Amino acid sequence: MADQGSIRAPSAVPVDDAVLPFEISALDVRGRLTRMGPALDDILMRHDYPAPVGKLLGEAIVLTTLLGSSLKFNGRFILQTQTDGPVSLIVVDFIAPDRLRAYARFDKTRLKPGLSSGELLGHGHLAMTVDQGPDMSRYQGLVALQGGSLEEAAHEYFLRSEQIPTRVRLAVGEELRGGSDGPQHRWRGGGALIQFLPKAPERAKQADLHPGDAPEGSTPHAVEEDDAWTESQSLFATVEDVELIDPDLSGERLLFRLFHERGVRVFPSLPLRASCTCSREAVAGMLASFDPEDRADMVENGKVVVTCEFCSSIYEFTPQEAGVEG
Ligand SMILES: [Zn+2]
Repeated sequence: MADQGSIRAPSAVPVDDAVLPFEISALDVRGRLTRMGPALDDILMRHDYPAPVGKLLGEAIVLTTLLGSSLKFNGRFILQTQTDGPVSLIVVDFIAPDRLRAYARFDKTRLKPGLSSGELLGHGHLAMTVDQGPDMSRYQGLVALQGGSLEEAAHEYFLRSEQIPTRVRLAVGEELRGGSDGPQHRWRGGGALIQFLPKAPERAKQADLHPGDAPEGSTPHAVEEDDAWTESQSLFATVEDVELIDPDLSGERLLFRLFHERGVRVFPSLPLRASCTCSREAVAGMLASFDPEDRADMVENGKVVVTCEFCSSIYEFTPQEAGVEG
């Protein structure tokens, strides 16, 4: 009898706040699927951001989980955008294996209804930093943001830096559910990433980038895409935002829906949680590193108040505790 041990029906139980790694070996594809509920809601609700800013920051958080969850060590993955649009700064901090925190800076006067993610960001860059601790080298990847979405920036990054054929989908939405004191608003997010990793590396060749200033009349190098990758992308392209964030659709069922014709294998899922690393001791240590004049300037109404940008926790110190002479 054939070994059927690893084949089972997809679980119908939705699991929130987790990354589900998967593989479609018939297509040489590996991927990850993220579903976020309470952890995403917790991070976004701490800030009371206008909805478009919350949605964009949510997309950056989902993208971070797709990229950072591949870390195989107790390191840190930091995704940061710096741009000239209404949302000028986004920082998402993923501390392996499961902690997430994030914040955004924005100009309220420039927020208009109907702006796309790309318009909210504007032009600038997206930086992804892998930090493996004080004794290890830091790695940073940079990609230009030119009015496009975070999905497009991720595609550009994998094409230029990693040279791995990759597709990414991100979705964030607001869920309204009936409660005893009226409808409850919650943020939900979901995303997926697939990568083509054939054993023969030449199969992963991609078309050259636009030749830019190549002499006029020169023909761009044509590369035929591998059939398996073409098929993977067309299956992946059918996933809809509503499926990525549906609280009642399990991740396994979603993967089965997309890839059942080819067979999809899932690996143990990796949990995620909202958790800041700030502490009163760390804030006191930061104050101690400031110049005495700067510390003195921070005294207002007889106290020094420091708010954590990541989680909005408020830390209060007396001038003496803050090291202000007086
Ligand atoms: Zn904090």
